[in-house]
Amino acid sequence: MKIFVVNCGSSSIKYQLIDMKDESVIAKGLVERIGIEGSVLTHTPAGKDKVRLESAIPDHVDGIKKVLAALVDPNHGVIKSMDEIDAVGHRVVHGGEIFNESVVITDEVLKQIEDLSDMAPLHQPANVSGIRACQKLMPNTPQVAVFDTAFHQTMPPVAYMFGVKYEEYKDYGIRKYGFHGTSHKYVSGVAAQLLGKDIKDTKIITCHLGNGSSITAVDGGKSVDTSMGFTPLDGVLMGTRTGSIDPAVVPVLMQKKGLDAAGVDKYMNKECGVLGVSGVSSDFRDLEDAAAKGNERAQLALDMFCYQVKRYVGAYAAAMGGVDAIVFTAGVGENDIHTRQQVCAGLEFLGVKLDADRNNVRGKVTEISAADSKVKVFLIPTNEELAIAQDTLRLCSK
Ligand code: ADP
Repeated sequence: MKIFVVNCGSSSIKYQLIDMKDESVIAKGLVERIGIEGSVLTHTPAGKDKVRLESAIPDHVDGIKKVLAALVDPNHGVIKSMDEIDAVGHRVVHGGEIFNESVVITDEVLKQIEDLSDMAPLHQPANVSGIRACQKLMPNTPQVAVFDTAFHQTMPPVAYMFGVKYEEYKDYGIRKYGFHGTSHKYVSGVAAQLLGKDIKDTKIITCHLGNGSSITAVDGGKSVDTSMGFTPLDGVLMGTRTGSIDPAVVPVLMQKKGLDAAGVDKYMNKECGVLGVSGVSSDFRDLEDAAAKGNERAQLALDMFCYQVKRYVGAYAAAMGGVDAIVFTAGVGENDIHTRQQVCAGLEFLGVKLDADRNNVRGKVTEISAADSKVKVFLIPTNEELAIAQDTLRLCSK
């Protein structure tokens, strides 16, 4: 069974073709600059060199068409015909309150996904375009939607409600949804295996720290709270996003900087976070280099990030009444030794004891806590594509 995993952004398509026999990636790639000058498809067949295919790619249908052509190409292709693709798994950003798990896409499901576009105006329409493109080019292949929000639909109202009027929740769906759900679910599942326990008997805090970051409390395999909210702007400060701030700052910013609603939204999403605080970069490697050379604002941005992540760890241990394991994942969580060390420092009172030697590692599953640490700390690389493929396989084999 071969599954094509598709993740469409507004001007990009990320894809993988996965052989579910051994869960190996047969090919992967990226289409960039869709609808803009300089469109390019970078295609990497497993074990071979990357190929860069430049041509005009006006829309997602054309992008998917070129990806499929690359997959069956006699030179750099990996399959003989498109018929070898058994199913397509789509990453979809928002499932609202409708979707609490992955689903096979029917006409009705696609309409419901489309109707949720207001919730994620930048991402959802791109996801819909990707689904339509695949339906058009592979009309007989089953398509599955895997939602970023679905895993968090188990949160109780005390965790997901905001202190706005109840009518706003009813009329506009204003509440916490949470994101990165596929990643939090995947790494918490792996952590339960490493703990050697049934996930139902575990309390796990998962820290997905990348360009975008979120922390989730997973109690008994269910998300019970998460740091991102109505949108992925909430929670800890990120590469370029503010994270949670006093909401009263927003109208002040609009007034002082002469910004309208769209302007302030863009400002808080693109210009703030560790980039805005440091004035250096949104990339943690650049910040660490700058901090090592004495840049105090870069150091402040890094310290703020670690402090805020630590604060969530403490909050979620309290929310669950304990914690068995803490997981670090995504670009920063998997690679940044300092961040992991600094987040865990001072958590000894909770039973967390990191082992400096074990923590000196990047990008592979590792128990980084000391042998006598009551709370286990793990580095677990996330694999959202594999998780999407696994859900797709499960739904299509039914
Ligand atoms: P996205 O949220 O876009 O999926 P990733 O999870 O790929 O992001 O994380 C990207 C971030 O990971 C980069 O911005 C960079 O800050 C960080 N990162 C990658 N490698 C390292 C490293 N060796 N040390 C510190 N940070 C790293």
